[in-house]
Formats: sequence, C-alpha cells, structure tokens
Amino acid sequence: MDEEILRRPNREYPRTFQEFEEWFATEARCRAYLMRLRWPKGFCCPQCDVCATAWRTARGALRCRGCRRESSLTAGTLFEGTRKPLRDWYHAMWFVTSQKHGVSALGLQRVLGLGSYQTAWTWLHKMRRAMIIAGRDRLTGTVEVDETFIGGPEEDLHGRETEKKAIVVIAAEQRGQAIGRIRLQRINDASADQLMPFIERAVRAGSRVLTDGWLGYAGLGAYGYEHTIKTIKGSGMQAHQLLPRVHRVASLLKRWFLGTLQGGVQHRHLDYYLDEFTFRFNRRTSRARGLLFYRLLQQAALTGATPYRNLLGGAKRQDHKM
Ligand SMILES: [Zn+2]
Repeated sequence: MDEEILRRPNREYPRTFQEFEEWFATEARCRAYLMRLRWPKGFCCPQCDVCATAWRTARGALRCRGCRRESSLTAGTLFEGTRKPLRDWYHAMWFVTSQKHGVSALGLQRVLGLGSYQTAWTWLHKMRRAMIIAGRDRLTGTVEVDETFIGGPEEDLHGRETEKKAIVVIAAEQRGQAIGRIRLQRINDASADQLMPFIERAVRAGSRVLTDGWLGYAGLGAYGYEHTIKTIKGSGMQAHQLLPRVHRVASLLKRWFLGTLQGGVQHRHLDYYLDEFTFRFNRRTSRARGLLFYRLLQQAALTGATPYRNLLGGAKRQDHKM
C-alpha cells in the first residue's frame, strides 16, 4: 500500500493543482488520505469499537485485527456505495472548491467527463450536504438580522407575504466595518415562530442583535439578547443602510443565484444552496484554495452517505440546519 502521503506530518493538503495531481496520482493514495482523515489517530473498528490495526483484504476492505470483521473505508462517509474511484470524487471537490463562485452540475459534468448529468447533480448535492457541518458555532458580538426574498420576479412584492419567492433569513456578524461570519436559513414566513428558533440556533445568547422594527423580532429581549431596533424614521438613512451587512449578503446571494445557478433553484433544494453559499462566504478569506478542499474532504469523511431519493426530498431536512 502506498503510505507516502501518511508520512508528511507538516503537510495536510495540496496547495496547487500540480500538487493535487501528485498527491492523488493513484487510487491507493486517495484511500490512504481518506484513511488519515477518517481515523487521524489510527484505525478504530466500527464493528467492535476497538482501535487496533487492520489489514487490507484482497477486495480492498479493512479487516480488524481485534474482531477480525471487515469494514469498508468508505462506509459511513460521503463516498459510501459509490462505484466511481475516489480520485474522481477528489477531482470534483478540488474543482468545486477552486472556483470562487461555485459550479453548476453541467460545469462539473463537463470538467470530469461524467457520463450523466444526474451523476454530476447528485455529486454536487452530496458535497453541499458535507458543507452543512461547516460552522455550527453561533455568531457572537453584534449581529444584524433581516429577511430577504429569493427567486421569482422582483415586482409584485407586498410587505412580507409572498407566493413565488422563498424567504431567507440572514444573520451577519459585525467585524469592524466589514462582515464577519454569516448564517442563512429558509423560513416559511416572517413570523416570530420562524424567526426566533433561527436566531437561537444562529446567534449566541447575550449577543447584541440589530433588526428593523418588524414585530416578529419583538420578543428578542425575552430570549436573552440585547435587542437594538433600527428604524428609518428620523435616521436620515435608506432601508439598506440601516442593516448594511445583511443587505450586502442578500445582494451577493442573489447575484450568486443568478450567475452560478442561472436563477433556477427549486425551493426544496434551496437549503443546500444556502449551505454552499455560507460555506464559501465564511471561508472567503482562506488564502489557499487547498484549505477549502481539505475542509470539504474532512467533512465528507465524517458525513454519512445520502441516497439519491433523500436528496430529491431536500425540503425535509429543516431539523438539522446550522
Ligand atoms: Zn473490530
């Protein structure tokens, strides 16, 4: 077995595409790398929970030296059940993370030479699912919160009710004049019943939360937040200036939808796209694109597989947002 990658203590991930090709030149190297990410302290048997050594069977499975049962390297990871080489997956992940604004399924299909559009689409969604795990820490300090509408025509919009558009609530940390981390979630309506659970998951209690005067936010104080209401009246400012960070995030989000996804997003898949956007946004200052690849692969090693049918029913996964 090719253990070369495992013997590079100072290097966790490739920095350039050239290095990427070198690191993952063979399937054996890809497997060794996944092994390291999955069991950083050495193999622990999923069958008997004992951390002993394992040997490789002829069919590529791992046999525990303790209980002698077989485990698969990919079982319980994003790659579970795949018939494609890990090399193709890594290539897809490198491609997805090296494009600043993400890729479409068609783009991925072309670059990898995948036979079917559906495979490319499924892969993208699986990768987005791995992005969810990114950043479950709550936002802190001063956080702006507001809702925005995604999809559908811009006109014919009255108040906070909408038929065609999806409502997305945005929380954005203040970091000086800039934006810190963000959290996004699709909500059914702008009621307190929808807004409060989001804020509780996204923002640490005790933080200062800035909102507009919408009634849905009126109970924030009771939830343990320091609530500051920004109103246009008497401020001499326009609506988008009151909460500049969330409005900046909203416009970037809309532009991203239009550019990368050609605006065509079904509501039930919106959650995945919001996860991808958040993952990218919160790592936008990661200098090395390689680090983004590494984080995605790290999460893929710990994220269970999602059958295709579950991806199609994407709307049902509200419960484990954030
Ligand atoms: Zn065992």
